[in-house]
Amino acid sequence: MTNEKKELTPDWDPWDPWYTRVEKGRYELTSVEFTVTQLCNLRCEHCAVGEELVEREGIPIPVEQLIAALEEIDTLQTVSITGGEPVLNPKVVQNTIQPLLKYCKERGIYTQLNSNLTLPLNRYLDWIDDLDVLHISYNYRDEKDFYRMAFKNFGKEINPKVADRLYEQMIDNARELSKRGVFVSAESLLSPFTAKYIEKMHQTVAEMGCKRHEVHPLYPSDFAKNMELLSLDEYRETVWKLLDHRHPDVWILFGTLPFYPCSDREEDRELWRRLHQEDNVTVRQDPDGRNRLNVNVFTGDVIVTDFGDVPPLGNIHRDRLSDVFDRWLNSPVAKEVHCFCKEARCAGPNLLVKNAYYPRWDFQTRQAKVRVDRRETSDLL
Ligand code: SF4
Repeated sequence: MTNEKKELTPDWDPWDPWYTRVEKGRYELTSVEFTVTQLCNLRCEHCAVGEELVEREGIPIPVEQLIAALEEIDTLQTVSITGGEPVLNPKVVQNTIQPLLKYCKERGIYTQLNSNLTLPLNRYLDWIDDLDVLHISYNYRDEKDFYRMAFKNFGKEINPKVADRLYEQMIDNARELSKRGVFVSAESLLSPFTAKYIEKMHQTVAEMGCKRHEVHPLYPSDFAKNMELLSLDEYRETVWKLLDHRHPDVWILFGTLPFYPCSDREEDRELWRRLHQEDNVTVRQDPDGRNRLNVNVFTGDVIVTDFGDVPPLGNIHRDRLSDVFDRWLNSPVAKEVHCFCKEARCAGPNLLVKNAYYPRWDFQTRQAKVRVDRRETSDLL
């Protein structure tokens, strides 16, 4: 029997830990992400796992064991599949991805797969109907940007024509899959390079038929650890510009936003108010460590995604994921960022963003200065 799922909309994003935190008064493990491969045909400069990519990888944990780990989580709502490029190796698709998607579909669990979408279209068609969100990266104005960004760290010279073909394939695939009704969500990372072109990138995302455009800061980790970040003033200006020129039918999701309603700066609070008044715009609370853990299917290690400096929290060969999550919630690192101001719809910062932009703020002693009530906002000052 297949469980019915509510449609994904700006009012219902099951990856957002907000709903559980408000309803239950605490965080619960509702989301698991599996890293199913460390192979990739690209080496993007902003890649969050670039240093871990390999040429040949090991033997994955049998999918039955992964599913058994999910079976133990009564609160599970979403599963994400990431890499590397999950679709690159057909064996990974056949042995891990397809069974996971089938299991989730039968249990009514929402699923997301992160792909660079550069492979031939037929590589996606066998399983795409079982998927809820196809998540892609889109950080380019054109083929030239794609070539520079995707192959900068490749380690050998790549003919620009190869990059042109991959770029076109990605655009064509996104268009075609969108046309077939797939929920394609394109993510752009705001950096000094991309911020200048965000309106053009948003336009292309709309032209590809993507239902959602996710906008995050560049995370200063892994391949990107030495890349320059936008200043907060530049970031704010970029978000404002994007809101002024956005395509009204494309849902814009701002994730790991580096602004908070407890800011002492009026311009930050003004931005928070605007983001909560716009139709088809959402600010997602950070799932990492608030409702989600990541499992590496080769080692079994359990981590909080992207928090590179936090060592593995457990291993699925010996730990239940719910127990690992409880241990994480009680850790000093989690407590540092798990503040909560219900009146402002804010649940605190992402750890990497805090360290990059607010290293001296003690979030536990701060308090929102803005009230957000559906699309109405007001000051608490
Ligand atoms: S939840 Fe944290 S970051 Fe958000 S307004 Fe409150 S204190 Fe600030």
